[in-house]
Amino acid sequence: TNATSSNLIEKTDKFGAHNYHPLPIVVSEAEGVWVKDPEGNKYMDMLSAYSALNQGHRHPKIIKALIDQANRVTLTSRAFHNDQLGPWYEKLTQMTGKNMVLPMNTGAEAVESAIKVARRWAYEVKGVEDNKAEIIGCNGNFHGRTMGAVSLSSEKEYQRGFGPILPGFKLIPYGDVESLKAAITPNTAAFIVEPIQGEAGIVMPPKGFLKAAEQICKENNVLFITDEIQTGLARTGKMFAHQWDDVTPDVIILGKALGGGVMPISAVVANSDILGVLNPGSHGSTFGGNPLACAVSLASLEVLEEENLTERSLELGNYFQEQLRGINNPVIKEVRGSGLFIGVELTEPARKYCEQLMEKGLLCKETHDYVIRFAPPLIISKEEIDWALEHIQSIFA
Ligand code: PLP
Repeated sequence: TNATSSNLIEKTDKFGAHNYHPLPIVVSEAEGVWVKDPEGNKYMDMLSAYSALNQGHRHPKIIKALIDQANRVTLTSRAFHNDQLGPWYEKLTQMTGKNMVLPMNTGAEAVESAIKVARRWAYEVKGVEDNKAEIIGCNGNFHGRTMGAVSLSSEKEYQRGFGPILPGFKLIPYGDVESLKAAITPNTAAFIVEPIQGEAGIVMPPKGFLKAAEQICKENNVLFITDEIQTGLARTGKMFAHQWDDVTPDVIILGKALGGGVMPISAVVANSDILGVLNPGSHGSTFGGNPLACAVSLASLEVLEEENLTERSLELGNYFQEQLRGINNPVIKEVRGSGLFIGVELTEPARKYCEQLMEKGLLCKETHDYVIRFAPPLIISKEEIDWALEHIQSIFA
C-alpha cells in the first residue's frame, strides 16, 4: 500500500515480460492532461497512450457513462443482444458514412479482422481463386502485434523468432504510387495504409498519394483500407485523417480513442457489400461489442463532437508546431505533423531528450529512435501548451 515508485518499478521488472522499455516513472493518478506518481510529483502527459486518450484522462462524461453502465450490465456475450450495441453502431455509421460495423477490442484485432474480411471478400465477391488473395501494405507500417499484423510488417524485429510468417502480403514504399500500381495483380484483395504513419515517427505521405491510391484501388477492384487507429477521431485536426485527402476508404479501422482511454474497443467500418461476407460462425470475440465498452465509446464519441476536439486539435496543433519550428537548434532536423499529432525529428537519438523532459515534468516518448512524438490529449489548453513549450525550449536552448 505504501509502495514507492522504485519498489513498483522493481516488482514490474522482476515479474513482467520485458517487451517494453518504459521511462522510469510510475503513474498512479491522472486527470485531464496531468498525471501523478505515488510520491505526488505531477507530470503533463504528452503521449496520451499513443492517442488513446484524445478526450483526456478520466473525462467526467466518459467516467459517468462507465459507472452508470457498470451499475446495469457489463457483459452479455454475443449469444444475446444488449441494449448498447445498436445505438453505438448507429453513431459510428453516422460519423463515417458507412452502413455496417464490426466490433472488436484492440487495434490489432480489428486489423486482423479487416484482413480476414478482405480475403473472404476477394474469394466470394471479387472471384479470386481460393487461397490466392494478396494484401498490399507499406514499408514502415504499424498495424499491431498479432501474426497477421506482424506478417504485414517491414520491421524485422517484429518478426524475428515468430515464424513462420503468414503468406499473402506484399509491401511497397510508403507514398509510392507507381509501386502500388506495379504490385497489384488480379489476386489483390486490398491495400491497407495509415493516412499518417504514427509508429514510424509521424511520417506524412507525399501530397496526393492517398487520392491516387484510392483511384488505383477503384480501377482494379481492390479494397482501399485505412488504418485510422492512431490518426482517427480528431487527432490530426479532422475527425478522420483520410478527410485531409478527400478520399473515401472502403474500410476504416478504428481503435484507441474509440474507448476514450477507459475501455479497449475497436471497430472495422465498411458497407454491407464488404462486411456482409461475415456470417454467423465465421468470426467473433467474447468481449467484442460488450455493453460496457459500447456505452463508454458512445460517450467518448460524443465528447469529441461536443467539445469540438477536431477544431481544437487543428488550431492548437498549428500553434504548437509553429512554436516548435521557431526553436533554433541544429539538433532539430524537422518538425512535422497534422494538428496535435506532431513529430520532432532529431539528428541524434531522442531518448536522452525525453528523459530531460521527464525531469521537467513533461512525459513523452521517442518513436523509432530519432523522433520525439508530441501528442497531448486534445482537451489541452493553450496555457498548458505554453507551459510545455517553455520546458521544450529550455532543453533545446
Ligand atoms: N494500427 C495502428 C496505426 C496503430 O498505431 C496501432 C497501435 O499503436 C495498432 C494498429 C495496434 O493497436 P493495439 O495496440 O490496440 O493492438
